[in-house]
Amino acid sequence: MPGVGPATESRLARLGLHTLQDLLFHLPLRYVDRTRITPMGSLRPGQEVLVQGQIDLAQIRFGRRRSLLCRISDGTGSVMLRFFHFNRAQQANLERGTTLRCWGQARAGARGMEMVHPEYRRVQEDAADGLEVALTPVYPATERLPQSVLRRLTTQALAALKSAPEALEDFLPERVSRNLALPRLHDAISLMHMPPPGTDTDQLLTGRHPAQRRLAFEELLAHQISLRLLRREVRTLRAPSLPAGNGNLLSRFLAGLEFKLTRAQQRTLRDVQRDLAAASPMLRLVQGDVGSGKTVIAAAAAVQALAAGYQAALMAPTELLAEQHRDNLSRWFTAMEIPVITLTGRVAGRERKQLLQRLADGELVMTVGTHALLQEGVSFGRLGLVVIDEQHRFGVHQRLALLEKGANQDTFPHQLVLTATPIPRTLAMTLFADLDVSVIDELPPGRQPVQTVVTSADRRAEIMQGIRNACAQGRQAYWVCPRIEESDDDQFQAAEETARMLTEQLSTLRIGLVHGRMPGRERDRAMQAFRAGTFDVLVATTVIEVGVDVPNATLMVIENAERLGLAQLHQLRGRIGRGQHASNCLLLYQAPLAALARARLETMRATTDGFVIAEKDLELRGPGEILGSRQTGLQRLRVADLARDARLIPQVQRVADMMIERHPDRLAALTARWVSPDAALGSV
Ligand code: ADP
Ligand code: MG
Repeated sequence: MPGVGPATESRLARLGLHTLQDLLFHLPLRYVDRTRITPMGSLRPGQEVLVQGQIDLAQIRFGRRRSLLCRISDGTGSVMLRFFHFNRAQQANLERGTTLRCWGQARAGARGMEMVHPEYRRVQEDAADGLEVALTPVYPATERLPQSVLRRLTTQALAALKSAPEALEDFLPERVSRNLALPRLHDAISLMHMPPPGTDTDQLLTGRHPAQRRLAFEELLAHQISLRLLRREVRTLRAPSLPAGNGNLLSRFLAGLEFKLTRAQQRTLRDVQRDLAAASPMLRLVQGDVGSGKTVIAAAAAVQALAAGYQAALMAPTELLAEQHRDNLSRWFTAMEIPVITLTGRVAGRERKQLLQRLADGELVMTVGTHALLQEGVSFGRLGLVVIDEQHRFGVHQRLALLEKGANQDTFPHQLVLTATPIPRTLAMTLFADLDVSVIDELPPGRQPVQTVVTSADRRAEIMQGIRNACAQGRQAYWVCPRIEESDDDQFQAAEETARMLTEQLSTLRIGLVHGRMPGRERDRAMQAFRAGTFDVLVATTVIEVGVDVPNATLMVIENAERLGLAQLHQLRGRIGRGQHASNCLLLYQAPLAALARARLETMRATTDGFVIAEKDLELRGPGEILGSRQTGLQRLRVADLARDARLIPQVQRVADMMIERHPDRLAALTARWVSPDAALGSV
């Protein structure tokens, strides 16, 4: 392209832009509106706007920092322009009476609205010319590759497209676009980059323009297709068939449990049993709220694998959880004489060597472990089933590694994934198009829903009394200190401080402490002590978020609750309400509480249903936040927004089926446009 030298080329490459097509699909993140002048009297903080008015004051202020202040007004109000860097000429230009047009972000200053370092130029009084005729796109950019350059290159790319339209193929069959009332690709792309005058501004600014819908549709379609293809590939792999048989170990296991499976558990177990019997690998996600009883499903699956003569392994995200699983499984498996062994980072030396030998020899054991299962030197002789607990803690690549690890010549183990993160249906369909999903949507009987109260952290006396009351009745309490700043240091210091404060104020109670900075052993000792009732109150950072089971704990205080996501609050709260006693959760916030934070805490107060909470979270925050893109391998979507575009998904699925069947030749090019090869949306 003319005007693109090696320097620009390498900067473009850093954004993943190599071809004209890449540029065309490098879509605006948002738009700014420079088509009209906003009256100053109607400005709200945060708005990016054009204002125009007369200078009625310009002076240099010598404060902590020298600054040039310039007040302009337009009859409806005034705005203070503030410059920290300026020169003499600039100062001379800003004379009283001059009319300025400024572009910048309004913010609330000490005395009314301000703009810091706005773009500005002098104009004739009352001039209304020189306004943009359409919205201005804002692209994902880097420091050395400013908007102006991206706009120029995009304009060139659009011109090239106009002269050679066939270079960019519209893969969506015309009939489909027509039926769904979606514009054709070229029209959508050029509108996105250069919205013509008269484009519905509100639609475009809120992402609801048909052009955006068209591209969102194609983006979701590309992800859907790429997951379907992945899944199809997995279906062609072979796995050992592990039929349940009859009169077997599995029924002995179920009969020996201290409880009866809920209906939802039975349904899920039937899905799993059927998958295990098949000769291609199971890829099933079991979604169930905290406490819904996913572990026993994993155990039953393991029994079925072992009964069929294969090893089973369960991978948990922390040592603490691995050990808790080991304890449960050992208890359930003793009657059946199935050995349960643990493989964590702590197992070392000769012990480790012996364990590894047993696994490699194919001895029929249940292995419970952490990431240590993925280490070099760990190999299974006859691995039939891999269970991954709390899936969102593991990346796609770790799951793949585990699948590979179990591969034996050309057979692969079955994979069962357990997650307590309730994923809204629409999101699940998109993220896990490659997985089958079973949902445990029922809690074991006898659970009492947790009562949640949202309260200001100032009301310390009442909070302390609440803890005393619970402990006087023989119950236990968690006090959670989430991280406030980005650093972990801060978090554990806050926890230590809180522990000191509680020890002082609750002198008759025994206070324990766990945080992520403690050596694993010490942390577990504290956790075990809390479980055994040695402490009344456990002060914790968010390390207790996942899986820990202490039924006697019935009170949880969460500090700075307004800073946590709903999903995380839900996980934390799931630690209580596990026994027969009524439980209470206190969500403390620092006043004043912003409206959005209030809405989120109100959701927590109003419901304990993880799916309702997840839907709300999706609505309030968007999908990346729910799952944590880093953890899921969730690629950032360019145009689509899973909350906003949820309605499209059923159609996306239908069209994906049709495309795979009728247009197999288009699939590779279509997915290449949207899905980067190492960051496919979702997971295997
Ligand atoms: P999660 O789904 O959060 O992993 P767990 O598997 O840890 O939940 O189960 C939570 C608790 O409920 C455990 O103590 C478990 O033994 C118990 N439990 C599981 N299923 C049932 C059931 N059907 N009836 C009664 N208790 C159950
Ligand atoms: Mg669990």
